[in-house]
Amino acid sequence: MNNVSRIPSYLSPEHLGPWETFLIQVDRVEPHLAPELRPLTPILTRPMRALIVDVPIRLDSGEMAHFEGYRVQHNLARGPGKGGIRFHPQVTLSEVMALSAWMTVKNAVVNVPFGGAKGGVRVDPKQLSLAELERLTRRYTSEIHILLGQDKDIPAPDINTNEQTMAWIMDTYSMNEGRTTMGVVTGKPVSLGGSLGRKDATGRGVFVTTVEAARHLGLEIAGARVAVQGFGNVGEAAARLFAEAGARVVALQDGSGSIANPAGLDLQAVKAWRQTQRSLLGAPGAETIDAERFWSTDADILVVAAMENQINAANAGLIRARLIVEGANGPTTPEADLILQERGITVIPDVLANAGGVTVSYFEWVQDISAFFWTEDEINARLDRIMREAFAAVWEAARSKGIVLRTAAFVLGCERVLLAHKLRGLYP
Ligand code: GLU
Repeated sequence: MNNVSRIPSYLSPEHLGPWETFLIQVDRVEPHLAPELRPLTPILTRPMRALIVDVPIRLDSGEMAHFEGYRVQHNLARGPGKGGIRFHPQVTLSEVMALSAWMTVKNAVVNVPFGGAKGGVRVDPKQLSLAELERLTRRYTSEIHILLGQDKDIPAPDINTNEQTMAWIMDTYSMNEGRTTMGVVTGKPVSLGGSLGRKDATGRGVFVTTVEAARHLGLEIAGARVAVQGFGNVGEAAARLFAEAGARVVALQDGSGSIANPAGLDLQAVKAWRQTQRSLLGAPGAETIDAERFWSTDADILVVAAMENQINAANAGLIRARLIVEGANGPTTPEADLILQERGITVIPDVLANAGGVTVSYFEWVQDISAFFWTEDEINARLDRIMREAFAAVWEAARSKGIVLRTAAFVLGCERVLLAHKLRGLYP
């Protein structure tokens, strides 16, 4: 908090939509890009195409309802568009643009042959029945069909979408095309062309990159204290892997509130409690704490695996962890980034830390296209290798250029994208 006054006021969180966050991140990386690629940077500062669709559905009551949907292809220079679909009441075009841009950078950081895309529907899925949700998913898929294809744009799960959603998308696309096309979407059920290891892949990537960073920082994972924000697909898997490695998950936060136990939470008990009670609060062996205490938890590692803009100027000064790992996309505002940097806290950025999900999506796509499926051991071994290599490249770039990991990851990712543009040339 004592450093807040040194932060320019125009970076205050009230003025920051996620797209502005991305633009500031591009501004920060530009001076570090190879001089011959730097003039191409403006390409990154606008999405290649963005589609806004109306999604009308018949509710179970017989009434009709309309929802806003988006699919944004930020950049296709390195391959087909790739990125998840989010169902959330606060989805905006600015958010989907930012998420698609982070996919561009992320896919390039782990060097999978995809461009960046993202989709979203502005809906609170908890208000819909399963049948309504299916109709919403199918109509949205039909509306964005013109963009989709296994060699054009390949969606995947994101917040509030899952294997079932992906199965509906695959079916809707396939029915409209008149042939079953498994490779049009990833994160499908394993019995329907999905990949082993996909469900835990993002959490696993979070864990693997944390292990690598901890090694460089001289921090032992066994016995380390970990605080986790978000207990969805990413946060739950990451927390479980940390606990299996002997770390103590000492605090957890989700939409229902925050809980803590300095001796380590019993994650299975917490998960079982949350499933029946739909809340973390009251879980066995856990004390309820307020948000301020969550952020100031005495932990070595803080994993943020919920939403954008969670670490901001108001709480960045409270954080006591040495290492922050971004399981979510865009969880740290640019203003908070500067505060954390001044405080000497290491941040493993989203475009690296959470790239395990799209990496196994890439494996799923390859398996679907080749109709040849791999074992879980093969998938995890390949995932671990890609994450470790990407981490090493980012760490080395940060060290040699004297920049933070986010800027270093952006250097690697943006240079790969801009090199593709340079080699392809400008059409016509
Ligand atoms: N939604 C995930 C992400 O933000 C996964 C994207 C994918 O697998 O295509 O990275």
